[in-house]
Amino acid sequence: MERIWLMLKRWKVEALLAAVLLPLFAAGTLYMSGQTTFASKLWTDAKSRNIPRELFDLALGVFGSGSDVLDKARNQPEVLSSVEDYIKLRVSATRIATGRDKLGEWKDTIADIEKKYGVPARTLVAIWGIESNFGRTMGDYNVPHSLATLSEGGYRTDYFREELLAALEILRDGHIEKSKMVGSWAGAMGQTQFMPSSYKAYAVDYDGDGKKDIWNSVPDSLASTANYLKRKGWQRGSDWGYEVKIPAGFDFGKAWKKDGVTLGDWAKMGIARIDGKPFPQPGETARFYLPSGGEGPVFLVLKNFDVIKRYNNADSYALAVAHLGDRITGATEFVAAWPADMKPLSRAERQELTSLIVAQGFKVGKASGHMSQNMRLAIIKFQKKEGLLPDGHPSPALLQRLRSVSSLASGQKT
Ligand code: CA
Repeated sequence: MERIWLMLKRWKVEALLAAVLLPLFAAGTLYMSGQTTFASKLWTDAKSRNIPRELFDLALGVFGSGSDVLDKARNQPEVLSSVEDYIKLRVSATRIATGRDKLGEWKDTIADIEKKYGVPARTLVAIWGIESNFGRTMGDYNVPHSLATLSEGGYRTDYFREELLAALEILRDGHIEKSKMVGSWAGAMGQTQFMPSSYKAYAVDYDGDGKKDIWNSVPDSLASTANYLKRKGWQRGSDWGYEVKIPAGFDFGKAWKKDGVTLGDWAKMGIARIDGKPFPQPGETARFYLPSGGEGPVFLVLKNFDVIKRYNNADSYALAVAHLGDRITGATEFVAAWPADMKPLSRAERQELTSLIVAQGFKVGKASGHMSQNMRLAIIKFQKKEGLLPDGHPSPALLQRLRSVSSLASGQKT
């Protein structure tokens, strides 16, 4: 019996579910009680989206059993690596070399995609490399199971429920077999790591086989990414930004105040590309980005930098994609060296920094611990008073200085 069960387990689980257990699912005896309610409510919406009942039951299966996705969701560590470490991990020598190989291997296809959507080949290959290591690490979680587990378990319930319904629609339309719909624990799928709703809105069938297959088809995956970026506002013919050099005595306060300033305006303030070349399109607006303060690499970033952030809303992510793309096509490392000890402050440390700045008598508006413009300007004032480089950057050294100045002051009072 045990052998038979093992065999069934290995080879026949789906047939068994379909033949024997489905009537029980429908009667609600196999789902745990919360799951029964979840599944029956979900079915109402799935039915209205023309999801077949059989597909619904098979896709959901006994979701949640043995799954670690709720643990993963609830125990996400606060990421506290420096931007330098973040970039070095993602823009490794191996990944640059593989990116070059992939660019060669898919040259004609990617050139076609670039022409059609206006997104450069290097950007597409870089996202492919960072998202899934060029299709090698797509995640092996069953996507409907993960989404059902998260939603039913009370983690961003409505969001993951909607993603689950979208996933069921993708299965309904036959773009991928149920067992092959794999992704990250949070449901990001395939070589380009699309959430099901993004897939629905932006995935394309580029190789023309009738399936939008971002799991197995490189042309579909890259064209889907290109389509996503185009629809999010990618500027054809523009770049992501430039590493720049700031003149001695530069007023960083001005930089943090500025919004909607053109490259030409920045040039008038003495900022130039670090390679000495002129800005090709001086009329483009650009914002200031200094990931590790005024002593490290400093950038002026363009609209496309923020379009990359629509993939993953972090400046460090956009910089990694941009830099990997450049390195794949032959650029060198950033020119300025990364300063030592530039770990970002934790939430608690940012709060502490804010309190200490306020205690020093600087006005920062709402003291939320967020690096607002007011906060940066207050930091600059403190840095000037202390004879530090007034770059407005909340570094660990700055926090240390604030602590010692404050303890000195309270020492004097007592
Ligand atoms: Ca296809």
